[in-house]
Amino acid sequence: MDKSKRKVVIAGNWKMNMTPSEAKAAVAETAKLVEGKTGCEVILCVPFVDIASAVEAAKGTNVKIGAQNVHFEAKGAFTGEISAAMLLETGVEYVIIGHSERRQYFGETDETVNKRTKAALAAGLKVILCLGEVLEQRQSGITSEIVSMQTKLDLAGLTADEMKNVIIAYEPVWAIGTGLTATPDQADEVCGIIRETIAGLYTKELADATVIQYGGSMNDGNAAELLSKVNVDGGLIGGASLVPAKFSKIVDAAQ
Ligand code: PEP
Repeated sequence: MDKSKRKVVIAGNWKMNMTPSEAKAAVAETAKLVEGKTGCEVILCVPFVDIASAVEAAKGTNVKIGAQNVHFEAKGAFTGEISAAMLLETGVEYVIIGHSERRQYFGETDETVNKRTKAALAAGLKVILCLGEVLEQRQSGITSEIVSMQTKLDLAGLTADEMKNVIIAYEPVWAIGTGLTATPDQADEVCGIIRETIAGLYTKELADATVIQYGGSMNDGNAAELLSKVNVDGGLIGGASLVPAKFSKIVDAAQ
């Protein structure tokens, strides 16, 4: 398999951190540090209220801005929710969907992940779709079945054309924010299983063109080795994305 056909994507997930003024400064600092580093796409997914200042600070730089969730309905009585059209108009290009924290704390299911993904793509957003096993599932030896099932359910009904705007982030839940990282071989193996599942749903060509990131305590110390794996096309980075100097070193590792 020729990995060089796929782009490498390094995305930060700020989670619930940074006020708008902090976001403005952090995006500007990150943009300065990654200037000219065109070997990968660089995205920062920020809280909704930070989008305006983040988009402004990212203008004319190679940093793209994303959101961290989107509702599946177009409009209406859904207090506290944000639609895909609203996001698009604010200038975000990407949206994270199905992050394990949303699945764990906010009742997100594969069905709602699928609905959100369809709504985001229909509006013209690009999606970073997160999936991954929890610790008990890994310990029971069912990681492969779990990620393959999530891939099928989360992508159900998406056309091959829509898949061009979908990035998958393989995020073993036990590695998120815990300091535990999947070994490069574990990350490669599961990203490979997801790729095979996508090949089964669509074609091998489409699967070979799909960007599959690893996420889970990726940092400036372990990024190079994780990113060297044939099935790992980038990273979704939580904690380390909040510190521009650390995040930019991961971008360096992806060059
Ligand atoms: C994440 O939030 O997607 C993530 C991978 O977090 P962390 O890098 O902090 O583990």
